[in-house]
Amino acid sequence: MEYPSKLIENAVLELARLPGIGRKTALRLALHLLKAQTETTVSLAEALAKMRFDITYCRTCHSISDSEECGICANKLRDHGTVCVVSDVRDVIAIENTGQYQGVYHVLGGVISPIEGIGPADLNIDSLVSRAGADDSEIHEIILAISPTMEGDTTAFYLSRRLRDLPKVNLSTIARGIPMGGELEYADEITLGRSIVERQRQAR
Ligand code: ZN
Repeated sequence: MEYPSKLIENAVLELARLPGIGRKTALRLALHLLKAQTETTVSLAEALAKMRFDITYCRTCHSISDSEECGICANKLRDHGTVCVVSDVRDVIAIENTGQYQGVYHVLGGVISPIEGIGPADLNIDSLVSRAGADDSEIHEIILAISPTMEGDTTAFYLSRRLRDLPKVNLSTIARGIPMGGELEYADEITLGRSIVERQRQAR
């Protein structure tokens, strides 16, 4: 693609690095930002730079935070005895949006992936083990809420090995099953199979 200006081309190439943004969309965004009020474009650039430079991670759960301790860890009303282990901050946001979970979190920062060269030492696993094994720990349940991919299952298996020696801590995994409104016949075989194997007894 030919651009009338090197400045536009630079902006397009930077925008096109973003996930899901192709060159055409990048050009449309760049031209939009060029036509917008100067303050609008400058505020966007400043917000992005400020986010990148100023963001911190919670020292306890490693979720994104504006201070040393995130809002969830600092909240005395949450159940600090139950820890939900997720791979990514996006999972924290998704679970929070359900409004169904009152415990706290631990963000691994990824999953074990030999292909991508990500091993256990690259993830926040040691801090989870020491958090749950500390003498003054009140943690009695750890819920593994990791996506059921091959890497996710490897990570969950590794975590269960590391955590099984903690006598006070019960390990559980999130139930896997048919999505709400989903039709049984369209569920893939693995999901349907797991839904049967991990069936729940109905209260009488
Ligand atoms: Zn936290």
